[in-house]
Amino acid sequence: MSRSTDPKLRRLPLAALRRKTARIARLLEQHLGVPDRRMPLPEPLDMLVATILSQNTNDKNSHRSYTELRRRYPTWELVAGARPAAVRSAIRTGGMANQKSARIRETLAAVLRRYGKYDLSPLRRKSNDRIIGELTGLKGVGAKTAACVLLFSLGRDVFPVDVHVHRLCTRLGLAPETKNPERTYAAMKDLVPRGKGHSFHTNLIRFGRTVCRSSNPRCGVCPLYALCTFERRIEGKTAPKPLRRAPSRADHDFMLLDNV
Ligand code: SF4
Repeated sequence: MSRSTDPKLRRLPLAALRRKTARIARLLEQHLGVPDRRMPLPEPLDMLVATILSQNTNDKNSHRSYTELRRRYPTWELVAGARPAAVRSAIRTGGMANQKSARIRETLAAVLRRYGKYDLSPLRRKSNDRIIGELTGLKGVGAKTAACVLLFSLGRDVFPVDVHVHRLCTRLGLAPETKNPERTYAAMKDLVPRGKGHSFHTNLIRFGRTVCRSSNPRCGVCPLYALCTFERRIEGKTAPKPLRRAPSRADHDFMLLDNV
């Protein structure tokens, strides 16, 4: 019987971890619904730049900086040709404007060198592994960013792992307790049920914001309490209350990458 390769999870056969993951994904859909997808999906280069802008800020400010950049420079040619100070000014609301503007310019230059134009649509014909290899070969593009492009722009069934998804997967005992989201990404590849990459990723982020917060998790209303292995979960659980509610404006703000 194949088992998890992580020492702390070794007692759990891989099949049991897969069943547990599927159960959690189902419970989250019951409580939070199946997240909508924006159609048509955004262009991959748009998504790549949006993902760069989403780092180290909240989604509202990230969305504002992306929208302002596109308003001032409707094409990527114009962004690439703009003065660095002007690009920094356009994205200032998202923070870290110096670093992000430099990364955007480097990324655009690398895309032009590799594909001959500011366009990543040739990726649509390639396999997931090939796309990840090509994107992470661009300076400053990591596995999480590449996975976001695959999921949110190319519609592939992948499961990006940012720090929030990493926190939840480790608390729930699905992934090893490390400080490394890339290790969690590798572990989760084998576990997420087919066709559930978008739903599970999106609902975990929503769940992490509303219930399993980084500090002060709301274990008393957590529908996943019985499945949780977090050592510091808060005891004295009461019966879980329904979490489902009508989508609000805040949902659209926080799901930036579905709203590029
Ligand atoms: S029981 Fe607490 S720590 Fe565990 S998943 Fe629920 S909210 Fe998070």
